[in-house]
Amino acid sequence: MIPNRSPWIAQLKRTRPIVPLSQDSHADIAIVGGGIAGIVSAFFILHYTNHSVVLLEADKIAHGATGHNAGQLTSYFERPLADIAREFGVSMAIDGQKSVESAWGLIEHIITTAHLRTPLYTFTGAAGFSDSAHVFAHLHDNLIRKQGGLLPEHMYISAEWLANQTIPEQYTGLYSALPHSHILEKLEAKHSGYIAVMESKKGCMNSALFSEELAGYLVATFPDRFHLYEGSPVKNVRLHESSATVTTARARVHARRVVLCTNGFEKFSLINEYGRAIDTSFHASVAGRIGYMSGYVDSTQQKPTAVSYFPSNHADSHDPTGESYFYLTRRPHEHSDAGPATLTCTGGPEKVLPNGAEYSRHDFYDEDIQESIADFMDLHYKPHTKKADTVFQWHGLMGYTPDGIRRVGVEPRNPVLLYNLGCNGVGILPSVYGGKRIAQILRGEVLPPSIFDPRDILDE
Ligand SMILES: Cc1cc2nc3c(=O)[nH]c(=O)nc-3n(C[C@H](O)[C@H](O)[C@H](O)COP(=O)(O)OP(=O)(O)OC[C@H]3O[C@@H](n4cnc5c(N)ncnc54)[C@H](O)[C@@H]3O)c2cc1C
Repeated sequence: MIPNRSPWIAQLKRTRPIVPLSQDSHADIAIVGGGIAGIVSAFFILHYTNHSVVLLEADKIAHGATGHNAGQLTSYFERPLADIAREFGVSMAIDGQKSVESAWGLIEHIITTAHLRTPLYTFTGAAGFSDSAHVFAHLHDNLIRKQGGLLPEHMYISAEWLANQTIPEQYTGLYSALPHSHILEKLEAKHSGYIAVMESKKGCMNSALFSEELAGYLVATFPDRFHLYEGSPVKNVRLHESSATVTTARARVHARRVVLCTNGFEKFSLINEYGRAIDTSFHASVAGRIGYMSGYVDSTQQKPTAVSYFPSNHADSHDPTGESYFYLTRRPHEHSDAGPATLTCTGGPEKVLPNGAEYSRHDFYDEDIQESIADFMDLHYKPHTKKADTVFQWHGLMGYTPDGIRRVGVEPRNPVLLYNLGCNGVGILPSVYGGKRIAQILRGEVLPPSIFDPRDILDE
């Protein structure tokens, strides 16, 4: 039986006592959920407006997906950009891509403004592909980027593989040929099956430490306008014509607007007293998947990196998307003063959370999953050192929206309610961008329609 032990939670040095909501209160804005989405939304609302904010967290700040992820900063959608362009048009898809990429600057802005000490590593990361379907899909995404005025990402294809392929003319200029051995070097791969690599800006950050530090900054900087209550699970949100009542076990918050930053899974009901019912469509629209990770520390000093591996021989995986891949992040180990060390974390295996089933972060970690990650590392990752002990094994819950795109904006059935949720596997940069967008909406800005607008929650 392996306990759920995340390196990001292990690095938190909490000193703040848990203060639950114990008496009824009033605020302009009630935020439900204290992961990175809730905390960053609070940051931007407090900086962009004069509103007062109450944040209600069921457990502790950053102990949800924010404390159990891979900590990889990356800006891709878990769905081809070309597919998003087919649904929304090239211009809106590219605007969505640019919005997510704008979060790089927002994170730096937050770190500077709030004097955070959470390390942020940025570098060129990679994704390795083993079959033609992946290669062509990414070339096509690159074409969409170019059509929309974004720089294409660097795609390198094995010269040996290209010798037996015909690449459609429309992709000319969107890739370069490299000897196969160089492709493997870029991926630090020992498995020879990779035929192409795509490079893009990536980063590593402990999003839990970032959120925890940011919470401390907000509490200290806005004592009159920001109130944080942890250990305060919300039971129901009642929406009126121009206000809402948010009820926890012990007390209620009366607010003008409510922002749900709950990732998607919450044991609460949404009661709309002013318009059509929301509850069923909301809960049915976010599906749960448990993601599993494992990490080891060794006493080497290696440069930070983030690589996604799409192997061709993993058709037997449990991944519900059928799109089995492994993602690896490597960074300096920041947990102890025992000299330089590197923390290497790998994830990939996922399990579907059956509809209605409950997930607990206290559940044990599955041993076969640990083996599947270890097998992958042995076969694919060249620097893998079997000598190092696996010191962290963890799982976390992800909320997938039907279209794989984060929901950020106003609930069409009652604008008192807003969302910044739906992690969809890659959620750190989108939640940060989402926090800014929520604050812009609450400041009264009229924003152009976006791929993030909560539309499908309306359609039952
Ligand atoms: C295994 C795994 C790997 C991942 N890897 C990456 C990655 O490499 N890169 C990336 O960008 N993203 C990754 N993600 C996704 C990313 O972690 C999330 O999208 C991101 O942390 C956004 O978090 P959030 O604030 O929306 O949700 P969360 O961090 O889950 O926060 C939601 C909060 O809401 C609270 N809450 C829920 N219900 C209630 C209620 N009724 N009352 C009060 N509070 C409530 C929860 O307790 C929780 O703290 C990964 C996720 C997992 C699980």
